[in-house]
Amino acid sequence: PQGRRPDQQERLDQTDLQTDRPHSARVYDYIMGGKDNFVADRETAATVLADWPGLRTSMLANRACMHRMARHLADLGIRQFIDVGTGIPSSPNLHEVVQEAAPDARVVYVDNDPIVLAHARALLVGSPEGRTAYIQADMRSPGTLLEDPALAATLDLTRPVALTLIAVLQFVEDAQSLVEALVEPLPSGSYLALTIPTGDLAPESAHLAGEYTRRGIPMYLRDRAQVERLITGLEPLEPGVVPMPRWHPAPGEEILPDTATNMYAVAARKP
Ligand code: SAH
Repeated sequence: PQGRRPDQQERLDQTDLQTDRPHSARVYDYIMGGKDNFVADRETAATVLADWPGLRTSMLANRACMHRMARHLADLGIRQFIDVGTGIPSSPNLHEVVQEAAPDARVVYVDNDPIVLAHARALLVGSPEGRTAYIQADMRSPGTLLEDPALAATLDLTRPVALTLIAVLQFVEDAQSLVEALVEPLPSGSYLALTIPTGDLAPESAHLAGEYTRRGIPMYLRDRAQVERLITGLEPLEPGVVPMPRWHPAPGEEILPDTATNMYAVAARKP
Protein backbone atom coordinates (compact mmCIF):
# COMPACT_ATOMS: atom_id res chain seq x y z
CA PRO A 1 0.00 0.00 0.00
CA GLN A 2 1.05 3.53 -0.69
CA GLY A 3 2.72 5.40 2.13
CA ARG A 4 3.67 2.19 3.91
CA ARG A 5 7.00 2.45 5.70
CA PRO A 6 9.57 0.11 4.15
CA ASP A 7 10.41 -2.70 6.56
CA GLN A 8 13.95 -3.23 7.73
CA GLN A 9 14.80 -5.85 5.11
CA GLU A 10 13.55 -3.58 2.31
CA ARG A 11 15.53 -0.67 3.63
CA LEU A 12 18.59 -2.86 3.82
CA ASP A 13 18.15 -4.07 0.24
CA GLN A 14 18.05 -0.44 -0.91
CA THR A 15 21.09 0.59 1.08
CA ASP A 16 24.60 0.97 -0.23
CA LEU A 17 26.91 -0.32 2.48
CA GLN A 18 29.77 1.76 1.02
CA THR A 19 32.24 -0.97 1.81
CA ASP A 20 34.94 0.85 -0.17
CA ARG A 21 35.14 3.40 2.64
CA PRO A 22 35.99 2.80 6.27
CA HIS A 23 33.14 3.06 8.75
CA SER A 24 33.50 3.54 12.51
CA ALA A 25 31.33 0.54 13.46
CA ARG A 26 33.36 -1.79 11.22
CA VAL A 27 36.77 -0.44 12.26
CA TYR A 28 35.69 -1.01 15.86
CA ASP A 29 34.40 -4.47 15.01
CA TYR A 30 37.71 -5.42 13.37
CA ILE A 31 39.86 -4.17 16.26
CA MET A 32 37.64 -6.06 18.71
CA GLY A 33 38.14 -9.28 16.74
CA GLY A 34 34.83 -9.32 14.81
CA LYS A 35 34.16 -10.49 11.25
CA ASP A 36 31.87 -7.76 9.94
CA ASN A 37 34.43 -5.52 8.28
CA PHE A 38 36.01 -4.86 4.89
CA VAL A 39 39.44 -4.00 3.44
CA ALA A 40 39.00 -0.25 3.91
CA ASP A 41 38.06 -0.79 7.56
CA ARG A 42 41.03 -3.09 8.17
CA GLU A 43 43.45 -0.63 6.55
CA THR A 44 42.19 2.17 8.76
CA ALA A 45 42.42 -0.10 11.80
CA ALA A 46 46.01 -1.03 10.95
CA THR A 47 47.02 2.63 10.67
CA VAL A 48 45.39 3.73 13.92
CA LEU A 49 46.73 0.71 15.79
CA ALA A 50 50.23 1.49 14.50
CA ASP A 51 49.82 5.01 15.89
CA TRP A 52 48.48 3.79 19.19
CA PRO A 53 48.54 0.03 19.89
CA GLY A 54 46.68 0.73 23.16
CA LEU A 55 43.47 1.33 21.20
CA ARG A 56 42.43 -2.32 21.40
CA THR A 57 42.80 -2.39 25.19
CA SER A 58 40.86 0.84 25.38
CA MET A 59 38.03 -0.48 23.20
CA LEU A 60 37.77 -3.67 25.25
CA ALA A 61 37.71 -1.56 28.43
CA ASN A 62 34.94 0.52 26.85
CA ARG A 63 32.81 -2.53 26.20
CA ALA A 64 33.39 -3.72 29.77
CA CYS A 65 32.43 -0.27 31.08
CA MET A 66 29.19 -0.38 29.05
CA HIS A 67 28.38 -3.71 30.73
CA ARG A 68 29.02 -2.25 34.21
CA MET A 69 26.99 0.88 33.50
CA ALA A 70 24.04 -1.05 32.08
CA ARG A 71 24.04 -3.43 35.05
CA HIS A 72 24.35 -0.57 37.52
CA LEU A 73 21.39 1.27 36.01
CA ALA A 74 19.28 -1.89 36.02
CA ASP A 75 20.22 -2.41 39.67
CA LEU A 76 19.02 1.16 40.37
CA GLY A 77 15.62 0.09 39.06
CA ILE A 78 15.75 1.38 35.50
CA ARG A 79 13.73 -0.83 33.15
CA GLN A 80 13.86 1.23 29.92
CA PHE A 81 16.96 1.94 27.87
CA ILE A 82 17.74 3.89 24.71
CA ASP A 83 21.18 2.91 23.43
CA VAL A 84 22.38 5.29 20.72
CA GLY A 85 25.37 4.17 18.62
CA THR A 86 24.86 0.51 19.41
CA GLY A 87 27.51 -0.92 17.11
CA ILE A 88 27.67 -4.32 15.49
CA PRO A 89 26.23 -6.81 17.98
CA SER A 90 28.78 -8.48 20.24
CA SER A 91 27.41 -10.61 23.02
CA PRO A 92 26.63 -9.71 25.69
CA ASN A 93 24.82 -6.72 24.22
CA LEU A 94 23.15 -4.18 26.46
CA HIS A 95 19.77 -5.93 26.55
CA GLU A 96 21.39 -9.19 27.58
CA VAL A 97 23.14 -7.45 30.48
CA VAL A 98 20.06 -5.62 31.73
CA GLN A 99 17.62 -8.46 31.15
CA GLU A 100 19.83 -10.72 33.22
CA ALA A 101 19.20 -8.35 36.12
CA ALA A 102 15.62 -7.48 35.13
CA PRO A 103 13.98 -9.80 32.55
CA ASP A 104 11.22 -7.24 31.90
CA ALA A 105 13.69 -4.52 30.80
CA ARG A 106 13.01 -2.88 27.43
CA VAL A 107 15.73 -1.63 25.13
CA VAL A 108 15.63 0.51 22.00
CA TYR A 109 18.81 0.36 19.97
CA VAL A 110 19.79 3.10 17.52
CA ASP A 111 22.57 3.20 14.96
CA ASN A 112 23.03 4.76 11.53
CA ASP A 113 25.25 2.09 9.99
CA PRO A 114 23.33 -0.25 7.66
CA ILE A 115 25.71 -3.05 8.68
CA VAL A 116 24.36 -2.77 12.21
CA LEU A 117 20.83 -2.93 10.77
CA ALA A 118 21.82 -6.09 8.90
CA HIS A 119 22.68 -7.68 12.24
CA ALA A 120 19.79 -6.19 14.16
CA ARG A 121 18.12 -9.56 14.55
CA ALA A 122 20.77 -10.46 17.13
CA LEU A 123 19.65 -7.42 19.09
CA LEU A 124 16.00 -8.31 18.91
CA VAL A 125 16.14 -11.69 20.61
CA GLY A 126 15.61 -10.94 24.25
CA SER A 127 13.82 -12.32 27.26
CA PRO A 128 10.12 -13.16 26.75
CA GLU A 129 9.15 -10.66 29.48
CA GLY A 130 11.20 -7.81 28.03
CA ARG A 131 11.26 -6.14 24.66
CA THR A 132 13.83 -4.79 22.23
CA ALA A 133 13.56 -2.67 19.10
CA TYR A 134 16.00 -1.35 16.56
CA ILE A 135 15.85 2.04 14.88
CA GLN A 136 18.11 2.98 12.02
CA ALA A 137 18.60 6.71 12.50
CA ASP A 138 21.24 9.37 12.60
CA MET A 139 21.52 10.77 16.10
CA ARG A 140 22.32 14.15 14.58
CA SER A 141 18.55 14.34 13.92
CA PRO A 142 17.44 13.73 17.50
CA GLY A 143 13.86 14.74 16.72
CA THR A 144 13.46 12.05 14.06
CA LEU A 145 14.95 9.51 16.39
CA LEU A 146 12.72 10.39 19.33
CA GLU A 147 9.61 10.47 17.14
CA ASP A 148 10.24 7.08 15.55
CA PRO A 149 7.09 4.98 16.12
CA ALA A 150 9.24 2.04 17.29
CA LEU A 151 10.37 4.12 20.26
CA ALA A 152 6.85 4.91 21.45
CA ALA A 153 5.78 1.32 20.79
CA THR A 154 8.55 -0.04 22.99
CA LEU A 155 9.06 2.50 25.77
CA ASP A 156 6.83 4.58 28.00
CA LEU A 157 8.44 8.01 27.94
CA THR A 158 6.44 9.12 30.97
CA ARG A 159 8.58 6.76 33.05
CA PRO A 160 12.36 6.97 33.66
CA VAL A 161 14.66 5.93 30.85
CA ALA A 162 18.39 5.41 30.72
CA LEU A 163 19.97 6.99 27.66
CA THR A 164 23.31 5.34 26.92
CA LEU A 165 25.79 7.07 24.60
CA ILE A 166 28.70 4.65 24.67
CA ALA A 167 31.72 5.55 22.55
CA VAL A 168 29.64 7.50 20.06
CA LEU A 169 29.79 11.23 20.90
CA GLN A 170 33.24 11.50 19.31
CA PHE A 171 31.46 11.31 15.94
CA VAL A 172 29.49 14.53 16.41
CA GLU A 173 30.88 18.02 16.30
CA ASP A 174 28.30 19.53 18.64
CA ALA A 175 27.95 16.90 21.35
CA GLN A 176 26.60 19.47 23.79
CA SER A 177 23.46 20.36 21.79
CA LEU A 178 22.88 16.75 20.88
CA VAL A 179 22.98 15.55 24.48
CA GLU A 180 20.69 18.39 25.54
CA ALA A 181 18.19 17.54 22.79
CA LEU A 182 18.18 13.85 23.69
CA VAL A 183 17.87 14.36 27.46
CA GLU A 184 15.28 17.16 27.27
CA PRO A 185 12.21 14.95 26.59
CA LEU A 186 13.14 12.34 29.23
CA PRO A 187 11.20 12.42 32.50
CA SER A 188 12.65 13.15 35.93
CA GLY A 189 14.49 10.12 37.34
CA SER A 190 15.99 9.27 33.95
CA TYR A 191 19.72 8.70 33.53
CA LEU A 192 22.36 9.62 31.01
CA ALA A 193 25.37 7.28 30.84
CA LEU A 194 28.25 7.89 28.48
CA THR A 195 31.80 7.01 27.60
CA ILE A 196 33.71 9.51 25.49
CA PRO A 197 37.20 9.75 23.98
CA THR A 198 39.59 12.38 25.28
CA GLY A 199 43.14 13.50 24.58
CA ASP A 200 43.72 13.99 28.32
CA LEU A 201 44.66 10.48 29.36
CA ALA A 202 46.75 8.43 26.93
CA PRO A 203 49.31 10.80 25.38
CA GLU A 204 50.02 8.63 22.31
CA SER A 205 46.33 8.41 21.45
CA ALA A 206 46.23 12.03 20.31
CA HIS A 207 46.90 11.16 16.63
CA LEU A 208 43.90 8.93 16.56
CA ALA A 209 41.28 11.57 15.89
CA GLY A 210 43.35 13.04 13.06
CA GLU A 211 43.78 9.66 11.41
CA TYR A 212 40.07 8.79 11.59
CA THR A 213 39.22 12.25 10.27
CA ARG A 214 41.70 11.98 7.38
CA ARG A 215 40.08 8.69 6.39
CA GLY A 216 36.61 10.18 6.22
CA ILE A 217 35.35 9.54 9.76
CA PRO A 218 35.47 12.95 11.46
CA MET A 219 36.33 12.44 15.13
CA TYR A 220 36.35 14.93 18.00
CA LEU A 221 38.10 14.47 21.35
CA ARG A 222 36.83 16.21 24.52
CA ASP A 223 38.70 17.40 27.58
CA ARG A 224 37.43 16.92 31.10
CA ALA A 225 35.74 20.34 31.27
CA GLN A 226 33.77 19.59 28.10
CA VAL A 227 32.65 16.26 29.50
CA GLU A 228 31.59 17.90 32.78
CA ARG A 229 29.57 20.38 30.76
CA LEU A 230 27.67 17.58 29.00
CA ILE A 231 25.97 16.70 32.29
CA THR A 232 25.02 20.26 33.21
CA GLY A 233 21.77 20.25 35.18
CA LEU A 234 22.04 16.53 35.94
CA GLU A 235 23.16 14.91 39.20
CA PRO A 236 26.31 12.86 38.60
CA LEU A 237 26.42 9.43 40.17
CA GLU A 238 29.54 8.57 42.13
CA PRO A 239 32.41 8.75 41.16
CA GLY A 240 31.59 11.54 38.66
CA VAL A 241 33.64 11.97 35.48
CA VAL A 242 36.49 9.46 35.67
CA PRO A 243 38.88 7.58 33.39
CA MET A 244 36.62 4.77 32.20
CA PRO A 245 38.24 1.84 34.11
CA ARG A 246 37.58 3.70 37.38
CA TRP A 247 33.81 3.75 36.86
CA HIS A 248 32.56 1.14 39.35
CA PRO A 249 35.21 -1.48 38.64
CA ALA A 250 34.14 -5.04 39.41
CA PRO A 251 35.23 -6.10 42.91
CA GLY A 252 38.72 -7.55 42.84
CA GLU A 253 39.24 -6.43 39.26
CA GLU A 254 42.63 -4.95 38.41
CA ILE A 255 42.09 -1.32 37.37
CA LEU A 256 43.96 -0.23 34.25
CA PRO A 257 46.20 2.82 34.71
CA ASP A 258 44.67 6.14 33.63
CA THR A 259 47.02 6.27 30.63
CA ALA A 260 45.81 2.89 29.30
CA THR A 261 42.52 4.13 27.84
CA ASN A 262 41.54 7.30 26.02
CA MET A 263 38.07 7.64 27.45
CA TYR A 264 36.12 9.19 30.31
CA ALA A 265 32.96 7.67 31.73
CA VAL A 266 30.12 9.34 33.62
CA ALA A 267 26.52 8.62 34.53
CA ALA A 268 24.10 11.20 35.85
CA ARG A 269 20.47 11.41 36.95
CA LYS A 270 17.95 13.90 35.67
CA PRO A 271 16.37 15.61 38.70
N1 SAH B 1 28.27 1.60 21.66
C1 SAH B 1 29.03 0.48 21.10
C2 SAH B 1 29.60 0.79 19.72
C3 SAH B 1 30.53 1.98 19.64
S1 SAH B 1 31.16 2.26 17.97
C4 SAH B 1 30.13 0.10 22.05
O1 SAH B 1 30.58 0.96 22.79
O2 SAH B 1 30.58 -1.04 22.05
C5 SAH B 1 30.22 3.70 17.51
C6 SAH B 1 28.89 3.38 16.87
O3 SAH B 1 28.21 4.62 16.68
C7 SAH B 1 29.00 2.74 15.49
O4 SAH B 1 28.19 1.60 15.44
C8 SAH B 1 28.49 3.81 14.54
O5 SAH B 1 27.80 3.29 13.42
C9 SAH B 1 27.56 4.60 15.43
N2 SAH B 1 27.39 5.99 14.98
C10 SAH B 1 28.36 6.86 14.59
N3 SAH B 1 27.81 8.03 14.22
C11 SAH B 1 26.46 7.90 14.40
C12 SAH B 1 25.35 8.78 14.17
N4 SAH B 1 25.53 10.01 13.69
N5 SAH B 1 24.11 8.31 14.46
C13 SAH B 1 23.93 7.06 14.93
N6 SAH B 1 24.94 6.19 15.16
C14 SAH B 1 26.19 6.61 14.89
